Amino acid sequence: MRVPLRLAPVFDRCGLRALLAGRRRWRGLVVLAHHRVGDARTVVGHPGQLSVDEETLDRQLQILRRDADLIEPAALHEARSHRGRAVLLTFDDGYADARATALPILQAHGAAAVFFIATGFIDRPRLPWWDELTWIAERAHRPAAAGDWTAHYKQLGSGAAERYLDELARRTGVGRAPASAGAGQWCDWDDVRTLRDAGMTIGAHTHDHPVLARAPAERQRHELCLGMDRIEAETGARPRWLAYPVGQRASFSETTRRVAQEAGIELAFSSYGGWNPWSELDRYDVRRMWVPADPARLRARVLAPRLFA
Ligand SMILES: [Zn+2]
Repeated sequence: MRVPLRLAPVFDRCGLRALLAGRRRWRGLVVLAHHRVGDARTVVGHPGQLSVDEETLDRQLQILRRDADLIEPAALHEARSHRGRAVLLTFDDGYADARATALPILQAHGAAAVFFIATGFIDRPRLPWWDELTWIAERAHRPAAAGDWTAHYKQLGSGAAERYLDELARRTGVGRAPASAGAGQWCDWDDVRTLRDAGMTIGAHTHDHPVLARAPAERQRHELCLGMDRIEAETGARPRWLAYPVGQRASFSETTRRVAQEAGIELAFSSYGGWNPWSELDRYDVRRMWVPADPARLRARVLAPRLFA
């Protein structure tokens, strides 16, 4: 049975939360996906891409420390044998706020997370396609169009997707975003090494963040392996975990799973929602849910994923 997440505050108020917090334990893994951490007013790009601000992340960690078993990525396999609410934290893409904002908050709570890095943005900082679509929409005075454009973009093969960006840039008269629009948006490799040195796990997220299922097998392999090669060259460790770019059901295919397995990936994470009872864990589709900013919703998902995830 699934319960709409908007009912989470009711769940809090009627005492069910206290009951669940004290007693029942589920067996499985909840993986929370974060995107950016910071102030919505100062972030370039799509405001919907901002997962949480600093205070909210701090609050979330307090909740998770109290109501869940926040596990370190390295301890994931041991967590299987324990009875508890195993929760794993992940951050996608490699934005500068991962190092500057999220890391100090994680450290203050003694928590470790997985950071999935799209290496092309570290090597050559620029606006990623989802932020560029918003950048074009805002300059064309059509901010509401960004959502539709993004949905359409995700359906396209890689060549057609690039042409679509060119076409929008031309049609709106706005042009493509200059590389300078992405300045300061991304971690550099020293930042990624700082994350590693702080005990965080660095995961693969391809090089240029294409929707893998829309690309031929050879391009999928190239994107995945190049991202892994770059992380290994810069950090000394080859990533064993992958987050599929975009992460929806249609964003990765049987071919993608096979390519990931052949590349040595041991766990690959989606992000279309859901959680992972241990008995149902699919190594090439580990379910992740985007972290709800509202504390009542987060508590509901962590305490009762069967109902709310
Ligand atoms: Zn991503």
